[in-house]
Amino acid sequence: MMNRIEVSHLIKNYGSNEVLKDLDLTVGNNEVVVLIGPSGSGKSTFLRCLNRLEEPTGGEIVIDGFNVNDSKNDLNQIREKIGMVFQHFNLFENLTVAQNITLAPVELGKMTSEEAEKVAKELLATVGLSDKYDAKTQSLSGGQKQRVAIARALAMKPDILLFDEPTSALDPEMVGDVLAVMKRLAKEGMTMVVVTHEMGFAKEVADRVIFMADGHIVEQGAPEAIFDNPQNPRTKDFLQKVL
Ligand code: ADP
Ligand code: MG
Repeated sequence: MMNRIEVSHLIKNYGSNEVLKDLDLTVGNNEVVVLIGPSGSGKSTFLRCLNRLEEPTGGEIVIDGFNVNDSKNDLNQIREKIGMVFQHFNLFENLTVAQNITLAPVELGKMTSEEAEKVAKELLATVGLSDKYDAKTQSLSGGQKQRVAIARALAMKPDILLFDEPTSALDPEMVGDVLAVMKRLAKEGMTMVVVTHEMGFAKEVADRVIFMADGHIVEQGAPEAIFDNPQNPRTKDFLQKVL
């Protein structure tokens, strides 16, 4: 099986601010990669380059064999393969839960309304929110909203899911429900890149942990290697602060 994601020499500048400095990364099929690192190190920018919410300044990103930078390739087609879950959910608060989930697949012509509604019901069951189908999104708790956001991403039947600090905005008692959904997705073989400060999740679920600082990949390896025996002083310093 080919790699799902192949990034080489990725560079992203904002003006004179060099945010991503020559990043290389491959993510295999079914692999769960957890990205950790201090605030401002470029983790969000990296995820946003992967699905082209940001335009890279240089380098190459290949998703499932498609070059994301190649204008000949259809960006929408690539984005269908790669779902994203944000820290602040980015749901339409005035719509119902079902409408949030069915919107994109219907608008993009992937499903009829009936099909999308059936899929929304199934997905809400898998994230433990069957009773919220007709609820107004604004009436949900943060943890419920994030599970809806995951269901919305899954409705597009992506091959890859990107998570950018999905539990950072949640009250502590909500975190476990969201992590449980993510754990199940990982077990079911979803290819995932997860930015998180939940080190317990990283230890338990990640196939690989990547420590990023100042726009570089400083160190990467199996969770045991990174957490129990970090080699780079910056990794050690970061882990001392967060563990
Ligand atoms: P992290 O997610 O690791 O906290 P970010 O990717 O959000 O890091 O940010 C990395 C750097 O890029 C920071 O210096 C930030 O100020 C800068 N940055 C991020 N987004 C933008 C933007 N849209 N415009 C200008 N600078 C940005
Ligand atoms: Mg970030």
